[in-house]
Amino acid sequence: MTAATTHARFLIVGPQGSGKGTQGVVVASAFGIPQVATGDIFRANVAGGTELGKRVQAIIEAGDLVPDELTSELVRDRLSQPDAASGFLLDGYPRNRGQVADLDAFLGSRGEQLDAVIELAVPRAESIARLRQRAIEQGRTDDTEEVISNRLAIYERETAPILDDYRARDLVVRIDGVGSLDEVTARIFEALAVRGFAAAHPGTPATA
Ligand code: AMP
Repeated sequence: MTAATTHARFLIVGPQGSGKGTQGVVVASAFGIPQVATGDIFRANVAGGTELGKRVQAIIEAGDLVPDELTSELVRDRLSQPDAASGFLLDGYPRNRGQVADLDAFLGSRGEQLDAVIELAVPRAESIARLRQRAIEQGRTDDTEEVISNRLAIYERETAPILDDYRARDLVVRIDGVGSLDEVTARIFEALAVRGFAAAHPGTPATA
């Protein structure tokens, strides 16, 4: 019998359209940890017309980054909730080196650190094709052509470099993100298992 991993502090990183949101939900559920997706939290606040939502709406619609201070505070609050005490899966944060420093400081103050960074590698052309498809299906306001290319440019300029930093810490598990949802999920579980992270419920269906 394999004991479930007692703590799992994961980050999933990939360009927009890499499927990280979907895979993040599956991994989080299999490990019994909350998925903390900053984009989802911001969108929910915009939809709910909260103060935060009003502050970030224009930024999100342009595909720009919300200021680090605001984003990091939001994440600190979320990770301080009891359900994140023994693990979490971050999706969409940190997104630049400033946010990496903020997260390091926060986790360090609790004697914690990230356990693994899942990199979903997807070629640019594939990301763009998937984002166009999602724009048609979901009609997200930040999925227009212009915003898509802005978001991908920001990813390449600001987010990709954080992978080098995490690679230097030997935290990165690089996954080929091209394939069916289930194939990619299987690759993630396999790679995490190699690192000693066994999900309690790896068979969790990808589509709920
Ligand atoms: P996402 O769904 O992760 O692509 O996030 C949607 C939008 O929310 C982004 O284009 C940003 O405007 C904002 N956002 C999400 N996460 C962050 C972050 N870590 N830092 C700054 N802005 C963010």
